[in-house]
Amino acid sequence: MNPILIIGGGISGVTAAVELAEAGKEVILAERTSHLGGNVVKMHNYFPKLCPPACGMEINFRRIRNNTRIRVLTHAEVLSIEGVTGEKRVRIKISGKRVNDLCTACGECVEVCPEERPDQFNYNFGVTRAIYMPYPLAFPQKYEIDTHYCKGTGCAKCAEICAYNAIDLEAEDKVMDIDVHSVIVATGWENYDPSKIDGLNYEKSKDIVSNVEFERLLSVTGPGKGKLLRPSDGKAPGSIAFVQCAGSRDRNYLSYCSAVCCSASLKHALNVTEISPETRVDIYYIDLRVTGRNEDFLRRVENIDRIGLVKGKVAAVDVAGNNELIVAFEDFKQHRKMKVGYDMVVLATGIISAGDIPGLFRNEEGFYKNQQQEGVYPVACAKKPMDVSSSVKDATSAALLAMKEDRIK
Ligand SMILES: Cc1cc2nc3c(=O)[nH]c(=O)nc-3n(C[C@H](O)[C@H](O)[C@H](O)COP(=O)(O)OP(=O)(O)OC[C@H]3O[C@@H](n4cnc5c(N)ncnc54)[C@H](O)[C@@H]3O)c2cc1C
Repeated sequence: MNPILIIGGGISGVTAAVELAEAGKEVILAERTSHLGGNVVKMHNYFPKLCPPACGMEINFRRIRNNTRIRVLTHAEVLSIEGVTGEKRVRIKISGKRVNDLCTACGECVEVCPEERPDQFNYNFGVTRAIYMPYPLAFPQKYEIDTHYCKGTGCAKCAEICAYNAIDLEAEDKVMDIDVHSVIVATGWENYDPSKIDGLNYEKSKDIVSNVEFERLLSVTGPGKGKLLRPSDGKAPGSIAFVQCAGSRDRNYLSYCSAVCCSASLKHALNVTEISPETRVDIYYIDLRVTGRNEDFLRRVENIDRIGLVKGKVAAVDVAGNNELIVAFEDFKQHRKMKVGYDMVVLATGIISAGDIPGLFRNEEGFYKNQQQEGVYPVACAKKPMDVSSSVKDATSAALLAMKEDRIK
C-alpha cells in the first residue's frame, strides 16, 4: 500500500500521523512552515484543563521521533492531487531549506546574525534575528532563516560560523511527485483580520489586540515573559474589555460562529485573574456559546467578582485623548446605550480556513467540504471551527477512513 499523505502539521495532522503509523501504515506529513505544532503551540494554555499546549504536543512529537513510518516534510506546499484511492499522485514543492537536518540547534549562528525581523510567532510583538528558532520547543528543533530579512549571499556569517555544515544560503526549491494511497487535509485555521472590522479601530491603538495576540501576551514565552503588560507602555493594565463576536455572526464579515471564541475569552479572563490579580475584566457578549466541559468555565467565571459578564453588543471602540479605550455598547438587559473606558481591549475575532490546496471544494464559508474527490479527507478546522479535543477525534476518524484499502463507492 502506498503511504498516506497528511497535509498540515497542527494537532489534527500530527494526531492522524501517529494514529496511522502506530496502526502500521506508512505516512508522509507535509507542513508548509519549518516546524510542526500549528496554532496550538502559540496558546498560553488550553481549555478545558488549562494545561500548557507543550504537554500534549511533546508526547506526539516523541511518538513521531520514535516511529520510522512517519516521514516529515517541512516547507512543503501541495501543487496538485490526482488519481483514485490507492493510486494518487501528488505534486509537492519544497522551498529551499537554508538550514538542513545537520543543525544541532547550538545557536552560534544567532550570535553573529546582523539582521532583525519581526517575531511572527509572537505576532510581531518584538523581534528575532533573521536566523531564529521558530519557538522554544520547535519540532524539528532547527533554526530557520527568514529570507525576506536575511541579506543572503551578501552576508554569510551564519554559514561561516556553523561547525556542522548545516547552512546553505543558496539552497533551491525543488518539486517532487509522490504516489500515495489517500490524502488527509489538516490545514487548519487563520485568525480573521481584525483591521477589516469597522468601528473597532484595531489599527488605532497598540492596546486593542486580537484574541490570538492576547494568547502571546499571556505566555511565559511571549513578550512579557509571563507578566501581562500593555503593548503601548509595558505597564500592567488596570482593566480589560473582551469584545465577543468581533466580526463573527455578522453578514458583513464572517456570517458564522467560530465555536471556540467564547470559551477562549472565558479562559483568558481566568488567566488574567491569575497572572494580573489587580486587573478588572468585562466580557461583552451577545450570547455565550459554551458547551460540555467548557460550561464549568462559565460557572467559575460567574463566581469571580472582578470579572463582569455584560450582555450587550459592542458598536465601537474609540481611542480617547489620554489613550483610554472607550467601549460603546448597547446593554441588552438595561435597554440603553452606554460607554465604558478600559486600558486594553481584546477582540474575540473568528477563524477562517488556512489552507489553499488546489482542486478542493469549499463551502460558502470558505472551509473545505467534507465531500471531495475520492480518497481526500478534510479534517478538523480545515472543515469548520472546532476545539482541540474535537479536532483530535475528527483526525482519528479520518485516519480510519484514509487507510481503507477499497475505494469509497
Ligand atoms: C484565540 C483562540 C484560542 C483557542 N484556545 C483553545 C483552547 O484553549 N482549547 C482548545 O481546545 N481549542 C482552542 N482553540 C482552537 C484550536 O486552536 C484548534 O482546535 C486547533 O488549532 C485545531 O488544530 P488543527 O491542526 O486543525 O489546525 P492548526 O492548528 O491551524 O494547524 C494547521 C497546520 O497546517 C499547516 N498548513 C496550513 N496550510 C497548509 C498547506 N497548504 N500546506 C501544508 N501545511 C499547511 C499550518 O501551518 C499548521 O501547522 C483556540 C482558538 C482560538 C482562535
